[in-house]
Amino acid sequence: MTAKNDYPELAKFKDDLDKCTKCGFCMSACPVYREQKIETAVARGKIMLARSLLDGGRKASKEAAEMLDQCTLCMTCEQKCPAGTHVPELITAARADKARQRGVSFPYNFIFRWLLPRRRLFGYTVRFASWFQGIFLPKTQGSIRHLSLFLSALGKGRHIPQIAPRFLRRSVPEVNSPPPGVATKFTVGYFTGCMTDYVFPELGKQIIRFLNKNGVAVIMPRGQGCCGAPVFLGAGDFKTGRKMADANVKAFQDLDYIITDCATCASSMKDYAKFLADTPERKQRYTEFAAKIKDITEFLVDILKLPPAAYTVAPEFRGKTVTFHEPCHLGRYLGVKEQPRQILKSLPDIKYVELPDADRCCGMAGTFSIHFYELSRKIGDKKAAAIKSTGADVVVTDCPGCQIQLIDSTTRNGMTQNIRHIMELFE
Ligand code: SF4
Ligand code: SF4
Repeated sequence: MTAKNDYPELAKFKDDLDKCTKCGFCMSACPVYREQKIETAVARGKIMLARSLLDGGRKASKEAAEMLDQCTLCMTCEQKCPAGTHVPELITAARADKARQRGVSFPYNFIFRWLLPRRRLFGYTVRFASWFQGIFLPKTQGSIRHLSLFLSALGKGRHIPQIAPRFLRRSVPEVNSPPPGVATKFTVGYFTGCMTDYVFPELGKQIIRFLNKNGVAVIMPRGQGCCGAPVFLGAGDFKTGRKMADANVKAFQDLDYIITDCATCASSMKDYAKFLADTPERKQRYTEFAAKIKDITEFLVDILKLPPAAYTVAPEFRGKTVTFHEPCHLGRYLGVKEQPRQILKSLPDIKYVELPDADRCCGMAGTFSIHFYELSRKIGDKKAAAIKSTGADVVVTDCPGCQIQLIDSTTRNGMTQNIRHIMELFE
């Protein structure tokens, strides 16, 4: 038996717990409930569980901890909820209290506390792991998001792209200016995230090239690290998450805009103030930092206001049918829905088709897909079926994590669609 104050993070969301009227509107929306069909899978059940933990002051049991982990934080329930309950927020808070009570299990505690915050050491470890990748895993296109995903995926038959032979930060300078003759309109910081750095460096180079060509100087601060999403959102380790947040805020302190190519990184960094600000000073710094963050398509459309003529489709994709998977963190968290579609619809050299339920979760959700891979696969299968129904040759998205999951889901289903980041479409 523990005291009620053993749920200090959850207590901050008590109003949300009180809002739920148990109407069940969230049931039809939840990707986890659609597969499991049990009450604890859906938002309503998780809210009841959180309520009982907070009111009863009981230490979270192993079963309760697992129920809280079985959520992709996709936010679909919140969107459907007539009461306006902030479900992912209270689940994240409950995970933090649970992590403090039960600790974070090995090897995640080692990876999160020691490896992820040490960028250089983490890079060496990823490199070391990559030597064995071909032995254990089926080879597909591209590389990995976090080492934890890679290690945990071993033996599960997951189709994971290859780790890049040369990481992005070793391939491009810290300051990347527009070419001679192109005036600099903006200077932005580029938060690359683990995936683009270790797995998709060509995407990073393409984004820098594209921005430079269009008058944007791109700074890639070497002090940046992992956004912290798997640490504080997935595992509830707020203490380590705070260290990572501080490092990222410091790395980008002198820049007006911070662009990302990963909706998850962008959303989790915008969440620093909500979850990790333990002092007024941190709250202010995190809030100012969040205001500078822009998804790459949001930056191109809303800030740079690029005309359609600026987007030239690369020869590889000309004449292809293209569809778009909308990441949960892009559409529902960041509210960026129209910008990528506006770009895609303006391209004369491709045929754009809307994906049915384009905004439905693909089942990745970081550590969720490690702990509950079978469940993640089933959610991914539904996405693969939707992709198949479009007849598209190419699927683009705006989150390298989703990209990995889409590669795995389509490959397992015998499909041959080319899965790419939206910025890879352009010359
Ligand atoms: S839709 Fe909202 S109010 Fe209704 S049961 Fe789900 S979380 Fe509760
Ligand atoms: S956030 Fe997504 S997975 Fe989690 S309970 Fe809500 S709808 Fe289900």
